[in-house]
Amino acid sequence: MSEAATQPRMPDEVGVPDPFQYMHPVMKKNYGNWDWHERPRPGVLRHVSKDGESIYTVRAGTQRQMDLYTIRKLCDIGDQFADGHVRFTTRSNIEFLVADPAKVDPLIEKLQAEGFPVGGTGNSISMISHTQGWLHCDIPGTDASGVVKSLMDQMYDDFIKEEMPNRVRITTSCCQINCGGQGDIAINVQYTKPPRINHDLVANVCERPAVVARCPVAAIRPAMVNGKPSLEVDEKKCICCGACYPPCPPMQINGDDSTKLAIWVGGKHSNARSKPTFHKLVMANLPNNPPRWPEVSEVVGKILKAYKDNARDWERMGEWIERIGWPRFFELADLPFTKHHLDTWTGARHNMNMSAHVHF
Ligand code: SF4
Ligand code: SF4
Repeated sequence: MSEAATQPRMPDEVGVPDPFQYMHPVMKKNYGNWDWHERPRPGVLRHVSKDGESIYTVRAGTQRQMDLYTIRKLCDIGDQFADGHVRFTTRSNIEFLVADPAKVDPLIEKLQAEGFPVGGTGNSISMISHTQGWLHCDIPGTDASGVVKSLMDQMYDDFIKEEMPNRVRITTSCCQINCGGQGDIAINVQYTKPPRINHDLVANVCERPAVVARCPVAAIRPAMVNGKPSLEVDEKKCICCGACYPPCPPMQINGDDSTKLAIWVGGKHSNARSKPTFHKLVMANLPNNPPRWPEVSEVVGKILKAYKDNARDWERMGEWIERIGWPRFFELADLPFTKHHLDTWTGARHNMNMSAHVHF
């Protein structure tokens, strides 16, 4: 065997690339040396270093799933009106880095003229974070990007203004088990029934080991049905997560009657000012209703209005609800409290305890 063949291949496209090669020179020079920052107007941040140098960040919203022409247009704007340095945030905002204050207003005017709203900073509603769904993933029960587009159209004014009590971070997720994060408001897919098995299809495919391994609560096992190899689901254990459908399409869980959307509130990732919190369920079984998801928009609108009208300055959504209490939150948001909000963990011993992952 040649020496080359015995050497491990060095990865050349794994992990995060060195960010310094793309960083604005003023940021690179002052790395770790920042003194203070301010927001001169919504959508603009100014960071000042201990040596007195400053850099402006101009933030604009994008449509997240972008065609090449839009990306080129944004890069051209960066070259022409900023210093040629852009970056995307995890919420799909684009940020232009500018050292010369005289360039900030022309950059904002150009972005607005091209239809990109400038905002998303401070106590605004920033872009809704979401996953790529059907573009790259095999689990989605909905098109998260479509929900985001509908909601951001509705919240345009709250993106370009800073008029909320504190920042509002909204997340969406096209399945209930993976990418969705804790959010002030989270909109997640919810399946309401265990999968129906198409036994004729199972007999013709060979993914049974994969689908058995995929189930987080070990509810699936191989079975003989009508003399042919197939599967069975222990419905008492199934938590209706939808993870079995991708490796095994005969496990049919998607459907108008079984794929719904649920809305959660009060989650928080950061430990700024207060501890991180888990969000809690506010509304279940909303129809998954493209192309504009009116039922979801109505509930999110009610929650945001109640928060804007009633929370104290600097209170995040969860802090406000904890202060006034959940019954008062439901009253102010004009939302019903139903049996679906009671989680007594009845049955947990029958599903979680039998999982391959959780034992108690
Ligand atoms: S949220 Fe779920 S379905 Fe959507 S991209 Fe992530 S893993 Fe896939
Ligand atoms: S929906 Fe989830 S819990 Fe139910 S059988 Fe499929 S993988 Fe298991």
